[in-house]
Amino acid sequence: MPEGDTIFRAARTLHAALAGDRVTRFETALAPLARVDDQEPIAGRTIERVAAAGKHLIIDFSGGLHLRTHMRMNGSWHIYRPGERWKRPRRDMRVVIGTARFVAVGFDIPVAEFLDDRALRRQEDLRRIGPDLLGEQFDADEVLRRMTARPDAEIANVLLNQRVVAGIGNVFKSEILFLAGINPFVECAVISEADLRRVLAISRKVLRINVEHDRSDRITMNSLDRSRKLWVYGRGGEPCRRCGTPIEYRKQGTDARGTYWCPRCQSRNDG
Ligand SMILES: [Zn+2]
Repeated sequence: MPEGDTIFRAARTLHAALAGDRVTRFETALAPLARVDDQEPIAGRTIERVAAAGKHLIIDFSGGLHLRTHMRMNGSWHIYRPGERWKRPRRDMRVVIGTARFVAVGFDIPVAEFLDDRALRRQEDLRRIGPDLLGEQFDADEVLRRMTARPDAEIANVLLNQRVVAGIGNVFKSEILFLAGINPFVECAVISEADLRRVLAISRKVLRINVEHDRSDRITMNSLDRSRKLWVYGRGGEPCRRCGTPIEYRKQGTDARGTYWCPRCQSRNDG
């Protein structure tokens, strides 16, 4: 699943390319979207805004129509100039939104639906999303409320739960907990409020850096050496970059997502 910074950057790029322009071309391989387009054509509408909401990407069209997409594992949006050759095969195309200046192509997008204003407000997945780490106003108190409502949940699983806080994916989960010095398997209730707030502050910083950084790879290390980007993720069995202890790896949670951690540096709250 892409991290929140990927969606945020995709939304920013699409917004810069499309917002304010009229749709000259709309195509879709998804039947439910095609049905809406038949009844209320998308071409001719103006694209008002493209924004991220957690891991959802919302495109607002004039006339009160909104396209919600979710990328899951493999979905992505590309921007091309009209006539430019696509970098992925046409069979992977799900949605095409063209203007006079740009063509936005959504490839392999598994979740996409048109919503009117009312349906957008009522959309369950969106309503339940926790505060967005990349949002301009981030409500840390609300996240803490949602965390303390899950006292038995392990902190790494809580960070991945978009209903608690939106934006963290599996890579950053391990990295953030390393930076905070907290063991990923510790239950929320055991961690002090000060430490939870620190985890959130680190999360916000890591995501922001990766949005500004604007490359497809991720960094959590402040290193000039380009081969040193991450502290623990993907480094099972290798020495910790801080203390030399071998990095451990284990699958965690109901979705069995891989977790990496240093048993020595992350011994806070071990009891
Ligand atoms: Zn270490």
